[in-house]
Amino acid sequence: MIGGSNPIAIQSMTNTPTADVEATTAQILRLEEAGCEIIRATVNTPEAAEGFAQIKKRIHIPLVADIHFDYRLAIAAIEAGADKIRINPGNIGDRDRIKAVVDAAKARRIPIRVGVNSGSLEKYIVERDGGVTAAGLAESAMNAVRTVEDLGYDNLVISIKSADVPMCIEAHELIAGRTDLPLHVGITEAGTVRSGVIKSAVGLGAILSRGIGDTVRVSLTGDPVEEVRAAKSILRDLGLRRGGINVISCPTCGRTQIDLVSLANAVEDLASHYPHLDIDLAVMGCVVNGPGEAKEADLGIAGGAGEGLLIKHGEIIRKLPESELLSALIYELDNWK
Ligand code: SF4
Repeated sequence: MIGGSNPIAIQSMTNTPTADVEATTAQILRLEEAGCEIIRATVNTPEAAEGFAQIKKRIHIPLVADIHFDYRLAIAAIEAGADKIRINPGNIGDRDRIKAVVDAAKARRIPIRVGVNSGSLEKYIVERDGGVTAAGLAESAMNAVRTVEDLGYDNLVISIKSADVPMCIEAHELIAGRTDLPLHVGITEAGTVRSGVIKSAVGLGAILSRGIGDTVRVSLTGDPVEEVRAAKSILRDLGLRRGGINVISCPTCGRTQIDLVSLANAVEDLASHYPHLDIDLAVMGCVVNGPGEAKEADLGIAGGAGEGLLIKHGEIIRKLPESELLSALIYELDNWK
């Protein structure tokens, strides 16, 4: 369920050809393991629609069809078992074609996500406003909503996306003030994993912290698993979701006497393998702040000279040589109580 009091759902999009059933299924299964809750795949050819039907049977999370231009592919995707379709009514064609898609979604009672982004604004809006603006994006989204509502269907999700962070934030504020429909939020074309995560965290942080957003996608040029990891971190850091290991690590300084950077990176990689835990894990470089921070966390390490203290539930439980710290943490996580 998207919207209302449901938790903000994390979604992503496959980047394999949908006609390649094996590759796309394998990617979705990896995404499920990472915590993805809704997955979207393009249905851009009849072969993709056939693949979509087979993929649907082999995965465990809702599968959304991403449609552009061809209303017949939207209908094929719905018949193939799509749990939701994403369309931009503006590029589907005339009213009859949009109606055919809406009727098919209505018959199966699946939601339609109407999406607009800065590249797909109606020409009259761009010309009138002298370019893409937040108000123009919100107006275009409401036009798309009205088009579908006029056809007698309101099982909708709205998305407005722009790669311009301040514009995207403003557009979301405008749309949230105009409708109660659920919003899919994200910063589009955010960039590579490194820059895109920052852009998404800034934009989504601002949007979500205003109480706006019902489902989220972080868009990155890279492995979609990174999108899911980033979305989870953003939601957790905003206090909107719990679950997983929250790694706290100090920045290191001249006092650090163990290879804390390698240890912290190894711990962060490790953390993604324990999505069922809900704990804070502190990796601290020395005894100045280390024990204090580590005691605040559920589990922690405070480094010394080539050794470290292992701290659990606020108590020092062992002193270990540096080489044994990681395996001791793994043992504790595997047997976490
Ligand atoms: S915890 Fe210790 S090593 Fe880490 S930054 Fe603080 S003083 Fe430096």
